[in-house]
Amino acid sequence: MSATFLLGHLGIGLGLAWLLSWRSPARIDYRLVLFGAILPDLIDKPLGYVLGFQTRLWAHTFLFLFAILALSFVPSLRTWRLVGFGVATHLLLDEIWDLPKVFWYPAYGWTFPAVPFSTDVWFEALLHDPYVQFGEIAGAILLIAFAWVHGIRSWGAFRAFLRHGTLPPLPSGTLR
Ligand SMILES: [Zn+2]
Repeated sequence: MSATFLLGHLGIGLGLAWLLSWRSPARIDYRLVLFGAILPDLIDKPLGYVLGFQTRLWAHTFLFLFAILALSFVPSLRTWRLVGFGVATHLLLDEIWDLPKVFWYPAYGWTFPAVPFSTDVWFEALLHDPYVQFGEIAGAILLIAFAWVHGIRSWGAFRAFLRHGTLPPLPSGTLR
């Protein structure tokens, strides 16, 4: 089973949103996509550590994704669809269908397999698993390309993006 780490999730999740919104005139808040792209791990990794389970739990389920997308139909929560998009890319990159007990939770039962938490496995994968390595490198390249194309080339611009989700204005006619 493959895994993707931080840069892969952030970069590839963002890259997919970028691709899909390429020709769209609507400006989307990419911060929400980035947040969604790592949200399942932000929730489940600490929980798995505390509970002694594996690190893919409730936030890696179809139910979780469905709940976010359902909530995004509430008018004031419309932007949650961007978080939902990020979560969907996360589950895709985690190849979560390899873990049907997690993805279709609770169809196979209410508990998760107890797997001792081990960071060794992650380092092992990072060092030796080509899927992981490719994901991290591709993710890093996409993050840099996104920042470059959108003019985020200074700490000031980066901070403004983090704070407001805005991208520096580009001359008209430039590709976004
Ligand atoms: Zn994950």
